Amino acid sequence: MIKNAQKHDVIIVGAGIIGLSIAHYLQQDGRAVTLIDRKGVAQEASFGNAGAFALADIFPLASPGIMLKAPKWLLDPLGPLSIRPNYLLNIAPFLMRFFRASWPDQYRRSIVAQSALLELAANELDRMRKLPNIGNQVREDGALHLYESDAEFERSRGTWKAREEFGIEFRHVEGFDLQQLQPGLSPKIKRATFIPKWQTVNDPFEFAKSIWNMVQADKGVLIEKGVKHINKGGAVTLDDGTELIANNVIVTAGAWSHKLAAQVGDRIPLESERGYNTTLPADAFDLRRQLIFGEHGFVMTPLSTGIRVGGAVEFAGLEAEPNYKRSEILLNKVKSFLPDLKMENGSQWMGFRPSLPDTLPAIGASKNSDKICYAFGHGHLGLTQCFATAKIVSDVLAKRQQQLDVSPFNPARF
Ligand SMILES: Cc1cc2nc3c(=O)[nH]c(=O)nc-3n(C[C@H](O)[C@H](O)[C@H](O)COP(=O)(O)OP(=O)(O)OC[C@H]3O[C@@H](n4cnc5c(N)ncnc54)[C@H](O)[C@@H]3O)c2cc1C
Repeated sequence: MIKNAQKHDVIIVGAGIIGLSIAHYLQQDGRAVTLIDRKGVAQEASFGNAGAFALADIFPLASPGIMLKAPKWLLDPLGPLSIRPNYLLNIAPFLMRFFRASWPDQYRRSIVAQSALLELAANELDRMRKLPNIGNQVREDGALHLYESDAEFERSRGTWKAREEFGIEFRHVEGFDLQQLQPGLSPKIKRATFIPKWQTVNDPFEFAKSIWNMVQADKGVLIEKGVKHINKGGAVTLDDGTELIANNVIVTAGAWSHKLAAQVGDRIPLESERGYNTTLPADAFDLRRQLIFGEHGFVMTPLSTGIRVGGAVEFAGLEAEPNYKRSEILLNKVKSFLPDLKMENGSQWMGFRPSLPDTLPAIGASKNSDKICYAFGHGHLGLTQCFATAKIVSDVLAKRQQQLDVSPFNPARF
């Protein structure tokens, strides 16, 4: 052990929504938590996401359908899915795994695993919503999947049938019913599917801060510094050379987590799916609930901080500058669906979704050290799955029986 190292019970590297939720759950088990984050509370993906508890999103991105659409999308450098040409070689191994994960056998396995995790997420969210500081941040006003044509609606039917199998409530709507749910849609949108139980947060950053407030009230500590190194024995070295030692180290560093995992010998093929959005003033449109434009890969959410339009997937790594033309493209597309939308005075943002090729997160102990635990790679569903992940991690640390089969999330599965 390093002499003079500061001793801690649990160190959590990364104070995004996943790290914060785990901190709260571990405190309920009597653990003392220290969060370490170089940017502070929820300043990366957890800051500016679309704010949905997407509990009906059981389908992995790696799907037979996406492999059919991808070539067309990839030809358009500003389309819903793009790869920067100079990143093509770096991303190739990830894409090979992604391709394999889209085959019917693995696809089906991923759906079953994702559904089980989302069921746990729904139960944990119900429980957490009973806490006043969390309950007052979540709305259950449903979401609308919109279709531009009958053909698009017909293409979606299979996914709704599969959701039915997993007990997800929805109803197809059109005409007056649709207008009531969302006035002001372009006449080209004739049909939609309404998911009544879809929930959204008032604002993702405010939501994360509420969890941090609870953690802080329970004597949780935040060290605002970068982590340079971790080792199998639970030693953590900060960027300024400070040495810490913990009984357990949890790596929840979002899209940067694989770099720390590699230091203890765990090679995990994490990539970042960069996403873009614009937040418009609240009076930009009379938006009643989240709208989902599935075939265009973006959503629109009413938040307490404004109206957020965002989505898209760009593979360009962690270093490349944002290309905000993507945010503009999304806004222009939305305008074609909502003619009365006011597009002025928006603020643009780009975030790094931490993603694994099979669309499932890595949650569980390192294969090389039971002191190190991972919880990252939630892709498009980090907010949705934050409490489920925290439940699993707290059960791992307390050596309790898990409530679901956690083998599909094993960090050593690659
Ligand atoms: C456009 C967009 C829309 C989205 N919409 C939704 C949605 O509607 N619903 C949903 O469920 N999910 C959504 N997501 C995904 C969701 O935002 C992420 O899955 C989630 O925020 C990931 O949380 P995290 O805590 O793992 O990572 P992050 O929030 O990225 O946090 C990781 C933290 O680790 C810190 N860190 C990294 N390395 C180090 C280091 N070495 N030392 C110290 N600190 C470090 C970072 O500073 C950061 O604060 C969306 C994402 C994007 C980009």
